[in-house]
Amino acid sequence: MGWLDRLTGARKPPDPTDLWKKCPKCSEILLQKDLERNLFLCGKCDHHLRMPVWDRIALLTDENSFLELDQDMESIDPLSFVDSAPYPERLQKAIQATDSFEAVTCGEARLDGLPVLLGVMNFEFMGGSMGSVVGEKIARLLERALARKFPVICVSASGGARMQEGIFSLMQMAKTSAAIALLNEAAVPYVSLLTDPTTGGVSASFASLGDVNIAEPDALIGFAGPRVIEQTIRQKLPEGFQKSEFLLSHGMIDMVVHRRQLKPTLARLLHLWA
Ligand SMILES: [Zn+2]
Repeated sequence: MGWLDRLTGARKPPDPTDLWKKCPKCSEILLQKDLERNLFLCGKCDHHLRMPVWDRIALLTDENSFLELDQDMESIDPLSFVDSAPYPERLQKAIQATDSFEAVTCGEARLDGLPVLLGVMNFEFMGGSMGSVVGEKIARLLERALARKFPVICVSASGGARMQEGIFSLMQMAKTSAAIALLNEAAVPYVSLLTDPTTGGVSASFASLGDVNIAEPDALIGFAGPRVIEQTIRQKLPEGFQKSEFLLSHGMIDMVVHRRQLKPTLARLLHLWA
């Protein structure tokens, strides 16, 4: 029956979610190919949908200038952690689904002709959670920036620390923050770009420590989620709490920048510092 299997297999319809997405803001149905052309902005309401890592790298860097670093670094399972599935199994699934070994992609590139070190987190990889490898890759990126005196940009998208690595995950907050402290001492510029969502241990460490902290419009940024806070303090939170614009008006971030304006804005900052 091999021919029949092959025939039915060939006729299997493609996964519809590969072809279209629904705008989480206005519920418009958006074709994947239109989204890719339109920088993953909703064509109807301009909502900034989550952007895949390589599209983000292409958006922010000069053409063909990105050279990936530490790409083979893979997580181990230091706690032999099992919840509904063993941690190594979850890792393998994430690796296959994202074609990447971890939740951050780091590299060296040029932006408007200037050298820059860039790290981009991938929310599709286990919720962009920060385990030992994510922390290590970010720390190495920062250390490389220090050694070469190149500015560094980190693009965050994360649910927080990776619970499967317990305390090893939490230690990455200190490690990345310490590396940034050294950059500050050496006056090497660091820009944090916060995208939807940036929460938990990432928001509480390197994502909030930029010389300039930039957020995309309407991104969820905070430590604990709004529901957890409401249940803890038993109070209703104000409208737009933990959104970029609210954080800007309360002095938590420096700029909210439209995706189309990100590269020119970063270029302007880098030229000021160069
Ligand atoms: Zn929309």
